Amino acid sequence: MNDCIFCKIIDGSIPSRKVYEDDKILAFYDLEPQAPVHVLVVPKLHIACADEITEDNVDYIAHIFAKIPAIAQSLGLENGYRIVNNCGEHGCQSVKHLHFHILGGTQLAGRMV
Ligand code: AMP
Repeated sequence: MNDCIFCKIIDGSIPSRKVYEDDKILAFYDLEPQAPVHVLVVPKLHIACADEITEDNVDYIAHIFAKIPAIAQSLGLENGYRIVNNCGEHGCQSVKHLHFHILGGTQLAGRMV
């Protein structure tokens, strides 16, 4: 996707502070952190949002969740963290490339909204 910020981060044409990378996924620090630790994990395949997860691309999502524990450990989140995905307008999704926020480094609020 030519106009997708996260595709440009994946191809290196927009810089990012990388946390983890392999052939399927990239994790990098959020530009505007909302917690002491705020990292985004994205599939290298352009999937616009959670509504576009299918049987054909779900291996990317499974891989993200298989890697999150090690990513969280590398970030020092041994006391826990929150995984957030915003989908669509009501979910306040601002970047239309599926991504999971990992938020932690402090006691997070009990309510999510
Ligand atoms: P969402 O609102 O769920 O779509 O989240 C998009 C996230 O992407 C926000 O937390 C932004 O701060 C973050 N973001 C946008 N552009 C960049 C960028 N170039 N590098 C890192 N994070 C970004």
